[in-house]
Amino acid sequence: MGTIGGVRTNDKFQVLRADGSVIKGLYAGGETANRPFYRRVYTSGTGLGLAYTSGRIAGENAAQEK
Ligand SMILES: Cc1cc2nc3c(=O)[nH]c(=O)nc-3n(C[C@H](O)[C@H](O)[C@H](O)COP(=O)(O)OP(=O)(O)OC[C@H]3O[C@@H](n4cnc5c(N)ncnc54)[C@H](O)[C@@H]3O)c2cc1C
Repeated sequence: MGTIGGVRTNDKFQVLRADGSVIKGLYAGGETANRPFYRRVYTSGTGLGLAYTSGRIAGENAAQEK
């Protein structure tokens, strides 16, 4: 139903290194970066909302990145 995990991201869904720094040009959303539920119980019905929202935010930020 969900990974309840994946890679760590910031609010732009840029993927973060272990030290918290941004990996430039790398974005992740949906089940590859299920940060809101990291290490928590799966909440039924929330996966699609996260996938759509994180995908849109990641895409918008990736398009603006220079
Ligand atoms: C049985 C079931 C019921 C669910 N019911 C609900 C529900 O009622 N409500 C809800 O909100 N959520 C529900 N979920 C969760 C929801 O479906 C997922 O959270 C959501 O689809 C995740 O979207 P995603 O885009 O992150 O990943 P995915 O939908 O898994 O998309 C990943 C895509 O990447 C593709 N892919 C994989 N590897 C590669 C590759 N190497 N190259 C190119 N493409 C690749 C895959 O084919 C796939 O199309 C349910 C999940 C399951 C399994």
